[in-house]
Amino acid sequence: MITGYIPYGRQDISADDIEAVVSVLRSDYLTQGPIVPAFEKIFTDYTGAKFAVAVNSATSALHIACLALNVGSGDVVWTSPISFVASANAAIYCGASVDFVDIDPRTYNISVSMLRAKLEKAKKLNVLPKVIIPVHFAGQSCEMSEIFELSKQYNFRIIEDASHAVGGEYLTTKVGSCKYSDICIFSFHPVKIITTGEGGMALTNSELLAERMNLLRSHGIIRDPLKMQKHSPGPWHYEQATLGYNYRMTDIQAALGMSQISRLKDFIDRRRLLAQQYDWLLRDFPLIRPWQHPDSKSSYHLYVIRLLGANYQSQQLRVFNYLRDNGIGVNLHYIPIHIQPYYSQMGFKPEDFPNSLAYYKEVITLPLFPGMSDTQQKEVIQKLTEALL
Ligand SMILES: *Cc1c(COP(=O)(O)O)cnc(C)c1O
Repeated sequence: MITGYIPYGRQDISADDIEAVVSVLRSDYLTQGPIVPAFEKIFTDYTGAKFAVAVNSATSALHIACLALNVGSGDVVWTSPISFVASANAAIYCGASVDFVDIDPRTYNISVSMLRAKLEKAKKLNVLPKVIIPVHFAGQSCEMSEIFELSKQYNFRIIEDASHAVGGEYLTTKVGSCKYSDICIFSFHPVKIITTGEGGMALTNSELLAERMNLLRSHGIIRDPLKMQKHSPGPWHYEQATLGYNYRMTDIQAALGMSQISRLKDFIDRRRLLAQQYDWLLRDFPLIRPWQHPDSKSSYHLYVIRLLGANYQSQQLRVFNYLRDNGIGVNLHYIPIHIQPYYSQMGFKPEDFPNSLAYYKEVITLPLFPGMSDTQQKEVIQKLTEALL
């Protein structure tokens, strides 16, 4: 059966989604209207966090989250190498330096035991990080309760990079609740769980941090006369209090996001079902399926497999090419950040984070998106079977 090319991820846009966007285009405000605050309110209601700041990308959210926590020159920020480069770049934007903690070989999230060991060492050398950015890889939450405990002991702040994890759960919380962090950020890029085209969101329970991020997303400008340093000479007056950016989300984007989040449960249910079916269909294959921590309920942004075998590196390339050549849009998440030329030039060596490197040489991301049919999934399995022969 010919079903055409199967991408690794794809947005799902309904007629209602389109109608929501069109209605904003017909309204008075394309940006800075009522829809962005309404979208933020849905997120605080959904996650339980007190404040939400919508922005034009998760990268912008990471940047203003770091700035709100006063990350600057002389500071160090830690994250894990198996992530998109933006998780590390945000700290560099602020003039800080970046270091990494290797991944847990089961979850591919930051390893708590290696984090603990690295913190102990850093304390002795007086080079403790100011902020740690745990990345909820593939939609599975990091072990936040343990990381939160360590943050009290070693006095660092936490930004969750939950770009993959809208709709994920951890212990009794929704990812985004910020019960175990200062700030949690989401991405609404089209391959992620819900989309606004481009877009992101920062959540927090701190009014101070929310205010700072609000200011930073719109040029550092204050319009409330009560908050101005100088007496306002008239209603035209605004004050630039700090150096901010234009990281605003438009109402067009927020309208798409509002319509999309009303479909979140369906998206997540379908992703979880497809993942469960993959687990079953792949049960006898010579590969490692995604292991799930009992404390976490993944949103399954990605389904990654690790190929087993002595000649893994060449086998990975062969399998990857075979699938791509046969209409299966496999991908690879991620090239470890520390081996990117920009980061190796800072002195990182590939073998500095051996779990990440070993993972990278074996992993392949299989297609997974809510609009994927069971037939398409069986086709993926069929082609993978052929590739492994
Ligand atoms: C996609 C992604 C980002 C960046 O998201 P944008 O909205 O595209 O800026 C950051 N971190 C991770 C882990 C991501 O997957």
